[in-house]
Amino acid sequence: MSLPDFSLSGRRALVTGASGGLGRHFAGVLARAGATVVLAARRAEALADAVEELRAEGLQAHAVAMDVTDEASVAAAFAAAEQVLGAPLDLLVNNAGVAGEGFAHEITVAGWDQVVDTNLKGPWLVSREFVQRLLPQALPGVVIHISSILGQRVAQSVSAYCASKAGLLHLTEAQALEWSRHGIRVNAMAPGYIETDLNREFFQSEPGLRLIKRMTARRLGRAEELDGALLLLASPAGSFINGSVITVDGAHLCSSL
Ligand code: NAD
Repeated sequence: MSLPDFSLSGRRALVTGASGGLGRHFAGVLARAGATVVLAARRAEALADAVEELRAEGLQAHAVAMDVTDEASVAAAFAAAEQVLGAPLDLLVNNAGVAGEGFAHEITVAGWDQVVDTNLKGPWLVSREFVQRLLPQALPGVVIHISSILGQRVAQSVSAYCASKAGLLHLTEAQALEWSRHGIRVNAMAPGYIETDLNREFFQSEPGLRLIKRMTARRLGRAEELDGALLLLASPAGSFINGSVITVDGAHLCSSL
C-alpha cells in the first residue's frame, strides 16, 4: 500500500495577504511542496521581497496586487495570475485578515466594515472569482479559508473579528455544499494564537505573558505547526475532506469552563 500523497507538484496556488506573517509562510510551504505560488497583497512592491526569497530557493513564485475587499481588484489579480501561469489557479488560500478592536458598543461602522469586509466578504469575493474561472472548464480546485479559534469561541473586545471568522466557517460549509459536485473542495483552518512578527512584542509584554499562562498548552503555536494541516487540506491526501474545519490550537479551545 502506498503512503498518502502530500505533493502539490504541478499545482497553481494563490495566497492572499502574502506580503508578511502567516500568508508569506504559507506561500513558502506550498511552493516547497511543489506548487507554483502567486503571492497576493495590496502593495505589490511589498511582495517583491517575499517572491525574491522564494525564487532564491529555486521555487516558482509570482506577485500580484490585490485588495480582497475590492471586486475589480480581485478580478484583475486573477486575470494577471492566469496570464503569467497560462492556466487557471487551482488552489486558493484565503489568508488576508485584520483583527480590529473595541467593545461591541464602541465599534464604529467603518471599523466593523473593515473587519467584516476583509475577513468575510473578501474570502467570498476571492473564492467566487476562483471558482468562476474553474467551472466553465470543469476543472477541480481547492479552497482553504484561514479562520480562527475566535470563530469557534469568543473573547472580549474583538466581536467583529469573532463574528467574521464564525461567518467564514459557515461559508466554508455552504460553499462545500454547492461546489463539491464540481470537484471543488472548501475547508477551513482555525489556528490558535500563533507567534508572528506582528504579535511577538505583545506576547513578551505583561498582558501577553498572562494570556499565555491561561492557554492550555502554556505556549504560543509556531507558524510551522500549521504546515501539516495546510498540506493535508491542499493535497490529494485530503481528497475526501470537504466542508471541514481543522483546528490547530494546542487544545486552547478545550480550556476549562
Ligand atoms: P498579519 O497582519 O501579519 O497578516 C495579514 C495579511 O493580510 C497582511 O499581509 C495584510 O497586509 C493582509 N491584508 C489585510 N487586509 C487586506 C486586504 N484588504 N487585501 C489584501 N490583503 C490584506 O496577520 P497574520 O497573523 O499573519 O494572520 C493571517 C491570517 O491568519 C488572518 O486571517 C488571521 O485572522 C489568521 N489568524 C492568525 C492567528 C495568529 O495568531 N497569528 C490566529 C488565528 C488566525
